[in-house]
Amino acid sequence: MKIILMGGPGAGKGTQAGPLVERFGIPHISTGDMFRAAIKNGTEQGLKAKSFMDAGGLVPDEVTIGVVAERLAQPDCVKGFLLDGFPRTLAQGTALAEILDRLGMKLDGVINIEVAEDVLIPRLTGRRVCRQCGASYHMVFNKPEKEGVCGQCAGELYQRSDDNVETAKNRLLTYNNQTQPLIDFYQKQGLLITVNGGQAIEQVFTDILKALG
Ligand code: ADP
Ligand code: AMP
Repeated sequence: MKIILMGGPGAGKGTQAGPLVERFGIPHISTGDMFRAAIKNGTEQGLKAKSFMDAGGLVPDEVTIGVVAERLAQPDCVKGFLLDGFPRTLAQGTALAEILDRLGMKLDGVINIEVAEDVLIPRLTGRRVCRQCGASYHMVFNKPEKEGVCGQCAGELYQRSDDNVETAKNRLLTYNNQTQPLIDFYQKQGLLITVNGGQAIEQVFTDILKALG
């Protein structure tokens, strides 16, 4: 199963990625998680990415494409993968096609989690993430059983520094300007599967599984 999860910031990609990779036994490749890990480890790549992430813009294509090309060439991706948050520009989409061609791989589908724009900002500002396993919670819509504690691994929950109103608004603009054109790109290739991300988390998951057959 080789799939891409698309959708605006806060659409529910990370939330759906967890159960999906568990179901299919494939690695979860999130460029956002990879950049956050690089920042935490103080690497040069993290240093390059940080200012773009803090501003709600995109990390330059040449950096991002290199990171993904390296990750997809790892042996655990042979059986499949779930890309979360990549590609985000047409140049990344084209580069991904070339990378997969070189590796002799083909995408099975691109899942577009569609959510009304006015829902996205409150989803982002109320999000809390597990420091340990990366699981996503929400202060109102998806509360952890115990406040501040991850229900899956008991890790500490924190608020991402880019989940403030100002950066969230910029991320939405970035999505509309730079990422939206990819919807058409994948639609034309007959790969696009659109699901209604405005429903309950479990229903979105059921719809994705149904669409993937
Ligand atoms: P993305 O990875 O697309 O940026 P997340 O999966 O982290 O988004 O979800 C953003 C926020 O919205 C999180 O706080 C999450 O708990 C919440 N969320 C995700 N899916 C839903 C849903 N279907 N209904 C309500 N809240 C949701
Ligand atoms: P995410 O965790 O997917 O919400 O991503 C957080 C931030 O990381 C984004 O706002 C971007 O600044 C950066 N980022 C993640 N994925 C990409 C990508 N494919 N291309 C460029 N920047 C990215």
